Amino acid sequence: MLQMNEPVDSIDGVGKKYLTKLENLGIKTVGDFLYHLPHRYDDFSEYKKIDEVRIGETVTIQGRVTSIKTINARYRRMTITEAYIEDDTGNIKVTWFNAPGPLQYLREGKAIRISGKIGLDKKQEAFFSHPNFEFIPVSALQREQTESVIQIDADLPSETTGAGCDTGILAPIYHETAGLKSFWFRRTMKNLLASVEVQDFIPQDILESQDLIDLATALQHIHFPRSQEEVTLAKKRFAFEKIFLIQLKSLLSKKNWNKRTAPKIPFNEEYVKNFVSSLPFTLTNAQKKCTWQIIKDLEKDQPMNRLLEGDVGTGKTVVSAIATLSVINQLYQVAILTPTEVLAVQHYNSLRKFFGKFDFTIAILTRSEVKCAPANQASKKITRPKLLEKLANGEIDLIVGTHAIIQKDVIFKNIGLAIIDEQHRFGVRQRAFLQQDTVALSAANKKGKDKNEKKSKDSGKEVTPHLLSMTATPIPRTLSLAMFSNLDLSIIDEFPAGRKEIITKVVNPKGRNQVHQFIRQELQQGRQAFIIFPLVEETSKMSEVKAATEERTRLQKDIFPEFKLGLLHGKMKPVEKNQIMADFKNKKLDALIATSVVEVGVDVPNATIMVIEGAERFGLAQLHQFRGRVGRGEHQSYCFLFTSDNVSDSTARLNVLEKTNDGFKISEADLKLRGPGQFMGTAQSGLPDIAMESLSDIKTIEQAKIEAQRVIAFDSELKKLPLVKKEVEKLGSVTHWE
Ligand code: ADP
Ligand code: MG
Repeated sequence: MLQMNEPVDSIDGVGKKYLTKLENLGIKTVGDFLYHLPHRYDDFSEYKKIDEVRIGETVTIQGRVTSIKTINARYRRMTITEAYIEDDTGNIKVTWFNAPGPLQYLREGKAIRISGKIGLDKKQEAFFSHPNFEFIPVSALQREQTESVIQIDADLPSETTGAGCDTGILAPIYHETAGLKSFWFRRTMKNLLASVEVQDFIPQDILESQDLIDLATALQHIHFPRSQEEVTLAKKRFAFEKIFLIQLKSLLSKKNWNKRTAPKIPFNEEYVKNFVSSLPFTLTNAQKKCTWQIIKDLEKDQPMNRLLEGDVGTGKTVVSAIATLSVINQLYQVAILTPTEVLAVQHYNSLRKFFGKFDFTIAILTRSEVKCAPANQASKKITRPKLLEKLANGEIDLIVGTHAIIQKDVIFKNIGLAIIDEQHRFGVRQRAFLQQDTVALSAANKKGKDKNEKKSKDSGKEVTPHLLSMTATPIPRTLSLAMFSNLDLSIIDEFPAGRKEIITKVVNPKGRNQVHQFIRQELQQGRQAFIIFPLVEETSKMSEVKAATEERTRLQKDIFPEFKLGLLHGKMKPVEKNQIMADFKNKKLDALIATSVVEVGVDVPNATIMVIEGAERFGLAQLHQFRGRVGRGEHQSYCFLFTSDNVSDSTARLNVLEKTNDGFKISEADLKLRGPGQFMGTAQSGLPDIAMESLSDIKTIEQAKIEAQRVIAFDSELKKLPLVKKEVEKLGSVTHWE
């Protein structure tokens, strides 16, 4: 018997030449191979007699071959095999192109089972076009096949390789790669399932209490289900298992995190109060609540790991600023990490403004921006080495930057707080490493003797900075339960007072002129507009750039000749981008045509118009993010969702945005409408489709969480469950979101 941890080439039929291909699919071991689960099935479970088949349907028939011939097609070196099959009710034509291998054994008189779609040929005659087929024993023709239970004959003739994989069943369809098709996976899987020893890592008592099938059965059911019910049972098991492991991983990582030491930041009430009263506004209650939660965390000597969640414009920056201030007050450094340069620059500027009365030193480090100066003096360019030196000797109190600030050579003297802004906008990879990065930052704290007395109390001891992540994506409850259970959550669920609801309208092509007219009026009154050309992720960056560039030319020439239109896209150099953003902010530009770049946190209070082209291609949550770029000032703001055609169902979906500005409602709706895979981007989450599906099922998540907590409560290091432990470790950082 094969074991699940053996290398994949121990499987019969998996030669060395397959190894690289399989590795591309993430398959290295026998176990990985088994876990290459089908993402759908071709339903060939309906058996019919030949005289019952109808055009267009997908069916299975069984019969005897009455004639067969293969001809060379006139063009493209193709062969066409044409056969007639009969049963006791009639006969039907079957054609194959470039006869698949085993077809060479097909002769008159042989019995065969065929699954596929019925088409109409040129003579208006019904036929099977390139169906799946398998040889069957002649005796099988006498048997009646019932529809619901699939029976596969064990005694198939030897001409058939991998029997019962392709016809008459729910045939699994796998994620394929060049040279490895579902056809191949089916037979290899079928053979493997018969020769592998499957060991279930989920303890029996959990299977029982959760009413789950065991792993061996689940694998059989998911790859070769005899009914839809079997698929459902298997999916339930795999979904539970994945969420269970994720929960365990979260709990363990929380435990480990809590073992670390962080600097205690006592609450300096007067200092913080002074700052808050210097602000041009009063904090909302939600801001106060979240600030307080953070202050409480900072007082502990365990590092905080908190996610600050608040819709775009709810004012997360100032909350993080208060935390920053408290930490700097205790003579520790603070780092703010942003996903883009534009955002880093913006933070740098607004924090300098916030802290304008203080003398501590703020720096920015990105690929193109390297500046540093005390907050109450003018910002100054410096060289990177100079900046690194200042950071290492503690002269810099606060540094804002992109990933450039967590490179190996960037050494902090004593970092006490790391803030990750717009956490959801970090790439998959980056996100997986963010938490490790924070740990790395602690190692980057310069050790040894201090030259000045500053921050000397912890020197020599490794301290992990407190970690505050911020996101504008309101995460539905199911998702945060499943994915963020090792984070503490603070939610700003309230907008600053006086903010007007953004008026949103879905606009079909006919309505455009009218909207352009309206925009013209607004611009004449001194307002500004964003016009966004976001393209879906799969399309190339270049075509996105092209579309936006062309549109700008067109809009400038034909629609808004009297206004100044700027262009911002992802292929521009960071300096250019920053310049354009600054021009827009300083009203040198009336409208900004942009690709998805502006999605992230840009704050221009005078911009009151947001136009989104091709809105129907986007998720509601994403559109909501775009919309959040306006409605930040005193004037009424508008969002126009331009659709490319009059498709009514996409309009219906977009109507959700017309009705509500509540980010939580929108993301719940998005989750329902598009499923969690689309909602988060399957690729981003690192979860298989099946587990993704289950993320909308709160029951599974809650149950998995309860079981995981129970396990950890009795066996906090999974000593008694080595198999589970291994699985949790295998999970790696793939699903690590924090
Ligand atoms: P986000 O949560 O999207 O990061 P920001 O922190 O950028 O939001 O805040 C958006 C705008 O609201 C900023 O101009 C900020 O100065 C302002 N703001 C923040 N808090 C308040 C408040 N309590 N009252 C009024 N304006 C506020
Ligand atoms: Mg922000």
